[in-house]
Amino acid sequence: KQSAADNQYQFFNLSMQSQLSTRLQIESQLSNALNNNELVLHYQPFICTQSGKVIGAEALLRWNNSILGNVPPDSFIPIAEQSGLILSIGNFVLRSAIKQTAHWCKAHQVDAYVAVNISPVQFRDEQLASHILELLEFYELPPHCLEVEITEGVLLQDEAQALEILNILAKSGVRISLDDFGTGYSSLSYLQKFPFDTIKIDRSFISSLAESSRNQDLVSAIISMARNLKLHVVAEGIETIEQSDFITHAQCEIGQGYLYGKPDLPEVFLQQILKQTKH
Ligand code: C2E
Ligand code: CA
Ligand code: CA
Ligand code: CA
Repeated sequence: KQSAADNQYQFFNLSMQSQLSTRLQIESQLSNALNNNELVLHYQPFICTQSGKVIGAEALLRWNNSILGNVPPDSFIPIAEQSGLILSIGNFVLRSAIKQTAHWCKAHQVDAYVAVNISPVQFRDEQLASHILELLEFYELPPHCLEVEITEGVLLQDEAQALEILNILAKSGVRISLDDFGTGYSSLSYLQKFPFDTIKIDRSFISSLAESSRNQDLVSAIISMARNLKLHVVAEGIETIEQSDFITHAQCEIGQGYLYGKPDLPEVFLQQILKQTKH
C-alpha cells in the first residue's frame, strides 16, 4: 500500500527531474539564441518626477525561442551565468544598447541615457572597462549617455577587480548604478567604497508602501540619504498613482514602472520620447 509520504517523494522527484530537463533545454537552446537572432532588447522609460518627462531607459533582455516560447530573463540569466554564455550575451546587450542609443541621439536628436544590466560574471573579465569604452567610441555615444546597473553580487566576488573596472568607467564619465538597493546585506558599506552615481530602490519597498506608514518612512529615509550623498535615486516598480505621488512628494528624482511605461520595443520608446519634445 502506498502512503502519502511515498506520493510526496515521487512528486518531489518528478518535479526535480522536470526542472532539470527544463534547465538543460534552456541551456542548449540558449547556446544558439544569439546566432539565431532570438535575443532582443526592450526599453523601459525613466521618468523625471518633477517634470514628468522621459529622461532615459533601462535595456531589458527578451528571448523568444521556437520551442520554449518567451522565456523570462529571471529564468535564463542565471543559467547563462552558470554556463558562461552570459559573456557573449552580455557583449551583445552592451553593443545593441549603445548602438541603439547612439542612433537615437544622432538621427532623432534624442537627449537620453540608457542603463544596461551587467552580470557579476562579466566583471571577471578585466577587459570589461576597455571593451565598454571601445564600444562607446566606435558608436560615438558620449559616456554620460551610458549607465551600468550592477547588483551587490558584483562586489561579492573579486572586489578589487570590480573596483578597478568601475573606477575606470566612472573616470571616463560612464554612470554607475546600484540596482535592487536595500535587498542585500551591506549596501551601505558599498556606497562608501564604490563610485556610484545612482541607487535604485528595490521594487519590494515600493509595493509595500501602502501597507504601513513605517514602510513609507523607510522609503523616505532612503531617498533623503541618497539626496544627502548627492546620488541620483530611482524608485523601481511604480504601478499606481499613489506610489507615484508618494515618491514625487518625497523628492525621489526618478521613477520607473508600469504606470509610466512597460519595457517595449525600441520604436515604442522612441515614439514616447519624441512625443514629449514636440509642442
Ligand atoms: P531588474 O534589473 O531588477 O529589472 C527590473 C525588472 O522589473 C524587469 O523585469 C522589469 O520588466 C520589471 N518591472 C519594471 N517595472 C515594473 C512594475 O511596475 N511592476 C513589476 N511587477 N515589474 C516591473 P525583467 O525584464 O523580467 O527582468 C528581470 C531581471 O532579469 C532584471 O531585474 C535583471 O536582473 C535581469 N536582466 C534583464 N535583462 C538583463 C540583461 O540584459 N543582462 C543581465 N545581466 N540581466 C538582465
Ligand atoms: Ca536593473
Ligand atoms: Ca532592480
Ligand atoms: Ca532584480
